[in-house]
Amino acid sequence: NNHHEVVIVGAGAGGLAVAASLLKRQPGLNIAVVDPSMEHSYQPGWTLVGGGVFKREQTRRPMASVVPSKVKHYQQAVVAFQPDLHTIEMDCGEHLHYGVLVVAPGLKLNWDAIPGLQETLGKNGVASNYAWDYAPYTWQNVQQLKKGKAIFTQPPMPIKCAGAPQKAMYLACSEWLSKGVLPDIEVEFCNAGGVLFGVADYVPALESYIKKYGIDLNLGQNLVAVDGENKIATFETVSEQGEKVRVEKEFDMLHVCPPQGPLDVIKDSPLSDDAGWFDVHPDTLQHKQYKDVFGLGDGTNTPNAKTAAAVRAQAPVVAENVLSVLVNQPPRAIYDGYGSCPLTVERGKIVLAEFAYGGKIKPSFPKWFIDGTQPSYLAWLLKEKSLPWVYWQGMLKGHEWLVTPTISSKPPRQ
Ligand code: FAD
Repeated sequence: NNHHEVVIVGAGAGGLAVAASLLKRQPGLNIAVVDPSMEHSYQPGWTLVGGGVFKREQTRRPMASVVPSKVKHYQQAVVAFQPDLHTIEMDCGEHLHYGVLVVAPGLKLNWDAIPGLQETLGKNGVASNYAWDYAPYTWQNVQQLKKGKAIFTQPPMPIKCAGAPQKAMYLACSEWLSKGVLPDIEVEFCNAGGVLFGVADYVPALESYIKKYGIDLNLGQNLVAVDGENKIATFETVSEQGEKVRVEKEFDMLHVCPPQGPLDVIKDSPLSDDAGWFDVHPDTLQHKQYKDVFGLGDGTNTPNAKTAAAVRAQAPVVAENVLSVLVNQPPRAIYDGYGSCPLTVERGKIVLAEFAYGGKIKPSFPKWFIDGTQPSYLAWLLKEKSLPWVYWQGMLKGHEWLVTPTISSKPPRQ
């Protein structure tokens, strides 16, 4: 039987958190997830793999061990959506029919958009924490480099975990500082954006680390090509005369955050907005046109930080609203835009950015315990010791600690 009360596309952070939250509320619900992957990754751990704190094996588990046993897993990619027929199509050619559809396939990492990058990733000093395969190579480079030039790049927004490109850089600098080699290494941060971090409250603390490590901060510089063999990175920037110019820079180590965008399967579907992102209401996460369709995670067009922390707050909202729609009620649970970015400014210290829509600060802890705007050892302990456990044992099991959704007394604005 190809009908399920709820079909979930993607068994990443968002898909599995929603499945668990739904089962917590209604254990008998008939749920299917569709995801071609054999493994499930805890991507927030990759920063610590690149920083030499975690082994990459700690960040990945077999998919079969994390999909709830009551949920049917189709190990397939979704290739098309037919929302008028309430069906999706999988790459085996089969269709699934749903009562409600939840879409959480994440976003696309556009490695190919930078000529030369794909060929040289994992060698010639070119690393990236944005892939399980290459995060260990970041740490290998950091350990090997004793002098020369290290460049860290950040593409235009939106990207997942906007702080991750600079987290990789601070952890590298922290290691070089403790080894006494930092004075012999020229560190550059080439950020396509115009600010160091999108929420102003956290910028002073980050700037103090830019100064401490002697980092050359280049805003408005976008990586456009890599020549791995000759170790040259090319950046596009705008000159003082307002013209687009290209600048070539030699490097010994290059840490790349790839450009990111919507997945083709979403972009080419009737469910996307003009830019290709999954088109949902920012409050209820219900699709703007199709009432029996919801979306969460990195692939949606909601203006929150694309993080697992955001997914943790979104999942109970989607679960509540899916159950309402299944009994023909309007959605009432509201997502406030919460997201978080633990910025690893040095080994053992984190600036814990937590904020909601509009950049409104939303700390989970009292200031005397963790002041998010200041580097904190307790926040580091949280990231290293607690958050992986909160992810595997809490979020993926339907425990909604500190993220109880707000239920509006009347249907929210649509
Ligand atoms: P994913 O978790 O990426 O899952 C998407 C799933 O969909 C995958 O399993 C994929 O196989 C599947 N899929 C793709 N296409 C299809 C298809 N066509 N059909 C079916 N299934 C499909 N977040 C934080 O909160 N804190 C952090 O410190 C943090 N640090 C990060 C550091 C790095 C280096 C990276 C890369 C990410 C970091 N994140 C962090 C972000 C976090 O990992 C993501 O925001 C989160 O995983 C998003 O969940 P998602 O379900 O939208 O996507």
